[in-house]
Amino acid sequence: MNKEEFIKELKTLGINITPSQLEKLEFYKEFLIEYNTHTNLTAIKEEQGIYLKHFFDSLTISEYIKEGQKVLDIGTGAGFPGMVLAILREKTNFVLLDSNNKKIKFLTELKDKLQLTNVELIYDRAENYVKNHLEEFDIVTSRAVSDLRILTELSLPALKIGGLFIPLKGNIDSELDSSKDTIELLNGKILAKKEFVLPKENSRRTILVIEHKETTDKKYPRSFDKILKKPLVKRK
Ligand code: SAM
Repeated sequence: MNKEEFIKELKTLGINITPSQLEKLEFYKEFLIEYNTHTNLTAIKEEQGIYLKHFFDSLTISEYIKEGQKVLDIGTGAGFPGMVLAILREKTNFVLLDSNNKKIKFLTELKDKLQLTNVELIYDRAENYVKNHLEEFDIVTSRAVSDLRILTELSLPALKIGGLFIPLKGNIDSELDSSKDTIELLNGKILAKKEFVLPKENSRRTILVIEHKETTDKKYPRSFDKILKKPLVKRK
């Protein structure tokens, strides 16, 4: 996807990008390509892939993100989807979290260069961070980090009541099956499952919208080891 196709496809998402936002994204792309030559941040290293698989894909959830909200992106990597959304949603506050410090360092430099005031960068593991930030966020999102069951335990406790967990996924049918008990036990409710294909390459995408209905027991999220080894199962 080239720049012109990117601008055109954004209209299908209801986005009219401004010249200043586009300029910021172009700077981001150039900085990412250059930084990637000495520090491994992403496997997608060329312009067309960045427009499609990083920028466009990140913006497929933009309709859910409103002015004044507080958004957490778990495992943001080189800023996807969080940094791209922050550039287009200037009046929404974003916390971008990753357990890899070289990615947080890249994003800190980018944030300074773009003079973004709506982005906070955190170097930590999600299970540690969320323990101290319970019920703080309106939206939690995450792309390509972990299985849905694990992500659900990391995400739901961080959400205000009524807040939305919106993971970006490929094909999630089997993950969804194995996550149903976790979602229910942590007081989540699936509101929507939106399936579509990415333009140009036609790969399958799924956006889930899960609402945090009621307070989750403060013992969650558990340690990563426990989340991994002891799936939550509903008593029959
Ligand atoms: N979300 C980005 C994307 O879509 O390009 C990055 C995906 S990358 C495959 C997964 C990222 O999640 C890595 O940067 C890794 O350091 C981070 N990560 C994995 N587990 C994590 C955890 N428990 N807490 C915070 N970050 C985590």
